Amino acid sequence: MASIVPSKKDPIIIVGAGAFGLSTALHLARRGYTDVTVFDKQPYDDSRYSYFQGCDAASADINKIIRAGYGKDVIYQDITLEAVEGWNQWNAELASGQTVPPGMTTADRVWVNNGHISMTDGPVLPPFEQASLASMPKNTQFVSTDTHDQQIAKSLGINLEPFKRQDPSRPNVALYDRTGGTTYADKACRFALHKARIYGAKFVLDPVAGELKELLRGSSDKSEIIGIRTSDGKTHRAALVILACGGWTPSILPALDGLNEATAGSVALLKIPRESPLYDRFAPENFPSWMHKMRDGHLGGLYGFARTDDGWLKIGYRGNKYTNPQVQSDGRERSVPITRWSKGETIKAIPKQALSVIQAFLDQYLPELGEAGIHISMTRICWYNDSFDNHLTVDRVPGMDGLMVATSGSGHAFKYLPSLGNWIVDAMEGVGSDRPAIQAWRWRTLGDQQSAINEIMQGSKGPRALSNLALVTDSRLGRSAKL
Ligand SMILES: Cc1cc2nc3c(=O)[nH]c(=O)nc-3n(C[C@H](O)[C@H](O)[C@H](O)COP(=O)(O)OP(=O)(O)OC[C@H]3O[C@@H](n4cnc5c(N)ncnc54)[C@H](O)[C@@H]3O)c2cc1C
Repeated sequence: MASIVPSKKDPIIIVGAGAFGLSTALHLARRGYTDVTVFDKQPYDDSRYSYFQGCDAASADINKIIRAGYGKDVIYQDITLEAVEGWNQWNAELASGQTVPPGMTTADRVWVNNGHISMTDGPVLPPFEQASLASMPKNTQFVSTDTHDQQIAKSLGINLEPFKRQDPSRPNVALYDRTGGTTYADKACRFALHKARIYGAKFVLDPVAGELKELLRGSSDKSEIIGIRTSDGKTHRAALVILACGGWTPSILPALDGLNEATAGSVALLKIPRESPLYDRFAPENFPSWMHKMRDGHLGGLYGFARTDDGWLKIGYRGNKYTNPQVQSDGRERSVPITRWSKGETIKAIPKQALSVIQAFLDQYLPELGEAGIHISMTRICWYNDSFDNHLTVDRVPGMDGLMVATSGSGHAFKYLPSLGNWIVDAMEGVGSDRPAIQAWRWRTLGDQQSAINEIMQGSKGPRALSNLALVTDSRLGRSAKL
């Protein structure tokens, strides 16, 4: 039976004001839905999507990579190129003063086109990068070891070797993507929130009034979801509830077992003082976003950025993605996000293994930081909602009328923020449902696929469960940072 599409006047509730929820609200309201309300337990109007101010959503971050090269996966290549048009449009709206969120100015930008470089320590480009080179538009990609590409890059002022490697004789090859760069994620979320409000979307951003306590079920038909109850005890009726709770979604919706799991990436932050000569060296004008050995297992999976205006240089590791399995009320284990800002038990640490891979990279590729006395001073574990196949999950929930999910960014969905919601509204309305992206994002089970990319739900005895791993707390790092 086809799902009922809400009318333009029907109340629609979105739970979660991260990239998925914000973009969905923005596009629903832009497309004429007049009663859209977003609930989130984070007081984002006060905390402004800042990790330093208590936010722990994946989207609440200083920066995220934008890169359009996706190997053979042209679905995401095309969606990224579409999103880049949106990012440019948002920068233009900011600069012109047309759309300026509270606390931001016309000098702010939501993204910078400072390029993206994907490196490996082998002699040739890996298959993924070769496929990106073949499928991306001409003259957007440069191979660091190709003399012709080197000349063109030089004429464009692009540095294909931005790292001062300690041992330059060791093999190193990189693919530079001119279309890519960095989004200032916290500012981008504030922009999307403001824009969604201008279109008429409503937001309840509050630890109590904004927190989903439970889904409301119909009195006669228990399989029908008719709204939500929030932690202040209030009920909110809706024709459709869209769950967009990022890493929290699988523990809220057990039906996602086997399809989605919350996993954690590890992040290290170094602070470059403004007076240091390295402040300019790592400025976005001089340094791209980057990845290193992204698909090479637990000794690779590194990525990073230019420094922010505040001097934060961020390096992430996802060679291993960790889990926090907890027994839930139905007796089953699910991975539940835990962060330095969680209620109750918190964690101000990352796995020792992640820290040692990051430190080894710093020693080899960016030795000048350590020589200048600039060390890792703060860490974060940041929660993805992963699917077993790295695809998003955007669909109605089977057997639960009135409920939809928009989730499982699997570590790569922030870059679609300006346009993602348009796709989600299409999926809700059943528009263009034969398009490959919408097909790939449908509710699915592992049996439908050849093989899983991510091995999920290994449980508390699994090798990636945080409780089985040695952790290094921030207090044991070289220096402690001021929050
Ligand atoms: C370490 C790391 C690095 C990444 N790097 C990149 C990158 O470089 N480029 C890129 O494009 N993508 C990247 N991603 C992926 C990207 O961040 C995510 O795909 C995207 O931000 C997910 O958005 P979301 O809305 O699904 O989830 P989130 O941003 O986590 O938002 C979920 C929201 O739901 C709210 N919520 C949860 N439970 C409740 C409840 N009970 N009641 C009310 N609200 C609730 C939370 O407070 C939160 O605001 C990265 C992710 C991580 C973790």
